[in-house]
Amino acid sequence: MADTTREHRFGTRVIHAGQAPEPVTGAIMTPIFQTSTYVQPELGKNTGYEYARVQNPTREAWERNAASLESGTDGIAFSSGLAAIEAAVLTLSAGHHVVTEENTYGGTTRMFNHVLSRLGIEFTFIDSRDPEQIRAAMRDNTRLVHLETPSNPLMRLCDVAAAAEIAHAGGARLMVDNTFATPYNQRPLELGADFVAHSTTKYLGGHSDVLGGILVVADESLAEDIRFIRKSTGPVPGPMDCWLCLRGTKTLEVRMERHNANGQRVAEFLEAHPKVTRVHYPGLPSHPQHALASSQMSGYSGMVSIELESPAAVKTVVEGMDIFLLAESLGGVESMSNVPSLMTHASVPQDRREAMGITDSLIRLSVGIEDPDDLIEDLAQALDAV
Ligand SMILES: *Cc1c(COP(=O)(O)O)cnc(C)c1O
Repeated sequence: MADTTREHRFGTRVIHAGQAPEPVTGAIMTPIFQTSTYVQPELGKNTGYEYARVQNPTREAWERNAASLESGTDGIAFSSGLAAIEAAVLTLSAGHHVVTEENTYGGTTRMFNHVLSRLGIEFTFIDSRDPEQIRAAMRDNTRLVHLETPSNPLMRLCDVAAAAEIAHAGGARLMVDNTFATPYNQRPLELGADFVAHSTTKYLGGHSDVLGGILVVADESLAEDIRFIRKSTGPVPGPMDCWLCLRGTKTLEVRMERHNANGQRVAEFLEAHPKVTRVHYPGLPSHPQHALASSQMSGYSGMVSIELESPAAVKTVVEGMDIFLLAESLGGVESMSNVPSLMTHASVPQDRREAMGITDSLIRLSVGIEDPDDLIEDLAQALDAV
């Protein structure tokens, strides 16, 4: 099916891109093609659909939708965000080298250090706030640079256009994990990246009810390579999960407007609060990279990290809140709190964690789309108990 919505604005494409009424009945919603295989009309002929690991119409609609939102040509969906990132690394071979931001999602660091490095792929961890650190880490065999901006959980930024230039000059591709920003706020392919990766578990799904990942690219042969890797290794999402993502992105624009507004309000409240030592939020003028944030992002999302005076204060606050629920994950409509050092980033080696500032006094908040006055009252009463 041709994507007839490519010329429309973002808020229209979230709803329509990649989807057309189902041809048999006119069903306005993309059906969930819950089938593992497709009947072949005669020997040696098929309908274009043979086996669900390779083709599924619900998945394809979701991939077209995501590709449109990220200004790419192809989306390739996976069973999780980590499976998507893994597939991008599997475009490399033993003997190749990857330069990666050190402050990524903890599971990404674990996969690089403990799984993919065993296959003869080498990883160098750098602080990509300074793009010169990327340049300095590049080697003759570097084929991939991996960034997360804003990073999880410290909200560090990397200049994507500068990183793309450095990666390409060294013969490497650039991957950006855009999970925190979402394409509503930041579109890395437009800034020169080669792959955008998402954990669709987070903002794209948006309702804490599905696990998934996607890669979006703007290069046909790269897309073909990734589809071949996925077909050969198997980490595909089921049709119901793809349908949940399609339903999720329909409200991406309206959700992100509210996440951005609530994130900003919560960050400003916390910055002024005497019990809060430090706030990490790219939308605050006090963020050391606020100028870069406002040049490469159009909004700052709902992720806010704060430092308190002690681990005991952290325990009081995360256990004392009623609306912000203590949980791993982020990006849902409901607000959540998380202590990265003990939860999402426990798998990052302790010395690297501490050197970066992921201490036991750090809380990561995923600010949801509830009434912002209730969120602030919830934070205020929990902080008062410190
Ligand atoms: C959650 C997350 C991942 C991993 O995604 P899964 O869907 O849990 O596999 C990767 N990157 C970021 C930034 C994340 O927040």
